[in-house]
Amino acid sequence: MINFQFSQATDVGDALRQIAADPDASFIAGGTNIVDLMKYDVERPGRLIDISHLPLRTVEEAPSGGLSIGALVPNSDLAYHPLVEARYPLLSSAILAGASQQLRNMASTGGNLMQRTRCLYFYDTVTPCNKRDPGSGCSAITGINRINAILGTSEACIATHPSDMCVALAALEAMVHVAGPSGERAIPFADFHRLPGDTPEIDTNLAPDEIIVAVELPPKGFAANYSYLKIRDRLSYAFALVSVAAALEFENGRIKEARLALGGVAHKPWRRTEAEAALQGEAPDREAFAKAADILLQNSRGFGHNDFKIGLARRAIERTLTQAARGTPQVQAIKKIR
Ligand SMILES: Cc1cc2nc3c(=O)[nH]c(=O)nc-3n(C[C@H](O)[C@H](O)[C@H](O)COP(=O)(O)OP(=O)(O)OC[C@H]3O[C@@H](n4cnc5c(N)ncnc54)[C@H](O)[C@@H]3O)c2cc1C
Ligand code: SF4
Repeated sequence: MINFQFSQATDVGDALRQIAADPDASFIAGGTNIVDLMKYDVERPGRLIDISHLPLRTVEEAPSGGLSIGALVPNSDLAYHPLVEARYPLLSSAILAGASQQLRNMASTGGNLMQRTRCLYFYDTVTPCNKRDPGSGCSAITGINRINAILGTSEACIATHPSDMCVALAALEAMVHVAGPSGERAIPFADFHRLPGDTPEIDTNLAPDEIIVAVELPPKGFAANYSYLKIRDRLSYAFALVSVAAALEFENGRIKEARLALGGVAHKPWRRTEAEAALQGEAPDREAFAKAADILLQNSRGFGHNDFKIGLARRAIERTLTQAARGTPQVQAIKKIR
């Protein structure tokens, strides 16, 4: 049992004032991650600032021609929103591949971006972990690292970012709108999450006194040729071993524009614009897809238990691109309990 204060924020300004006043405080939105972290004694906020009642629950047209998604829009509402289903089905598909219906009903857009790694040692407070306890060491590098990263790792941490939604947001080149004491700013999705480097305890470039207010999707949604493929150990709520978001646009039978992002392989959704550029002007065939996979996986490195992820990712990239090119996206299976 840990003691903590609890307060509710009435508006964004109030939330910012409360977080600035208490360096020990954390926001709570849907609570599906932070409450778990508190139960496992991984995080010990002195105060929870409940932001779940802030008016950030709408999905609306943005002046850019894209869509603005409030930070508190629940994952289910977002996945089934008619504008998202029609214009950004890649995002719907990625969200529906994640968690369970009940969790998606509670989980918020902002919370999904801010969820923390599922590295086994991060949750196991008796083992060293640089992310949980900076300077203590990384148990995963020589330990059971089946679910850990193969790209962008450092000597300090080989954790992955666990989100499905974020992989689609990376491929769609979303912008994250945040508010802080000196006003609002927008962070391109590629710059929102960080690689571990020697500060793995810092997951994102959101400052501790800032709050996410919205995520903006650009006008281009790749609604005709897209696919999200998630490979995991079991169908019911398991995190991705490897996932791929692919989006293509065609002109005269050749690829005009391509977007590719990987999940489950790095500390952030993994994208390399060189891989996408290599597809430009190509016919959608196996050779072109294999070349893009090679570039995306350049410098990948396994740590023993997760060596298999390199070959798995290569095959998953080729398959997802094939599905996207054919306009036959991976269907996120409806799970029935009999
Ligand atoms: C059993 C289980 C299975 C899951 N499976 C998957 C899966 O397969 N795929 C997947 O993608 N996810 C999965 N999830 C994770 C789930 O999607 C996240 O827990 C959820 O998205 C977090 O959202 P939340 O609103 O509940 O965040 P909270 O738990 O309320 O908050 C999480 C963090 O975000 C911060 N935060 C929240 N909102 C804001 C904001 N607006 N601005 C700044 N900081 C903020 C909080 O301070 C906290 O640090 C799973 C979770 C569980 C428990
Ligand atoms: S990989 Fe990162 S999160 Fe996992 S034990 Fe190492 S430092 Fe901790």
